[in-house]
Amino acid sequence: MNYRHAYHAGNFADCMKHALLVTLLQSFLRKPAPFMVLDTHAGIGRYDLHSPEAEKTQEWQDGVGKLWHEDASSPLADWLEQVKQAGGPEFYPGSPLIIAQMLRTQDSLICCEKHPEDKRSLYRLFANTPNVTVHERDAYEALRALLPPKTAKRGLILIDPPFEEPGEFDRLAQAVQTIQARFANAIIAIWYPIKHRTPVRIFHETLMATGIRNICVAELLMQPPHNPDQLNGAGLLVIRPPFGFAEKASVQLEQLQHALGAHESCVTQLVAE
Ligand code: SAM
Repeated sequence: MNYRHAYHAGNFADCMKHALLVTLLQSFLRKPAPFMVLDTHAGIGRYDLHSPEAEKTQEWQDGVGKLWHEDASSPLADWLEQVKQAGGPEFYPGSPLIIAQMLRTQDSLICCEKHPEDKRSLYRLFANTPNVTVHERDAYEALRALLPPKTAKRGLILIDPPFEEPGEFDRLAQAVQTIQARFANAIIAIWYPIKHRTPVRIFHETLMATGIRNICVAELLMQPPHNPDQLNGAGLLVIRPPFGFAEKASVQLEQLQHALGAHESCVTQLVAE
């Protein structure tokens, strides 16, 4: 396990993932019934943008670093408010901290992080947060062990793997089947890199062949995906997105495209409701 998210926190891919994550979470807040979130690949939760790791790559400069001046009317404003609440612009919140900040007392968050050192950082971050639990365990094993949730009938499963090992798209497709069997009404959000189109197309086709309804895909491309050795773009595939998600996501990605000088953005309904 060589991947450390501290080198990449706040980059363009984080910006799109986290802005859309806030939109998904807002949909749960419309009703008082409790919801749970399972963040399967959680990272350390809060990133110092002046750490040696962040200084080394400076990736955040081409991501959140270009967005501090968005105003309150921006479609990115709600997410940027969460970033500020977590200590931005010095610090950048990862997915578990954004989620934790948006929970109400009746809601809960379960985080899984396999890297022992990163798990310790995350555990410290949430030591005094009663409705957040942190596990040092494998994401895919956790889906079988922790679902269905005991605390809520509504939920979001966020799967954000590092794509370090070959076969990640296959494991994701298998994970969707595991979730379907255990928590069939959950919203599932899966982040993936776009280096080259072919593996992404095969992943989409695999999910389309499952018979699962209502699958939406949001993608942001920094440049055309011609060089498979670099991260050209990123996508978030959402199964059972809430009402209005595609429209809001589309506006958010258009704003990111404009502000970051990206090549293209699109939101596509892969499978109808
Ligand atoms: N979701 C985080 C966020 O948005 O702030 C970033 C997650 S980062 C892309 C992926 C994380 O998954 C890394 O911290 C890595 O250590 C962890 N990881 C890698 N393989 C894992 C596995 N099989 N199970 C759980 N965590 C894993």
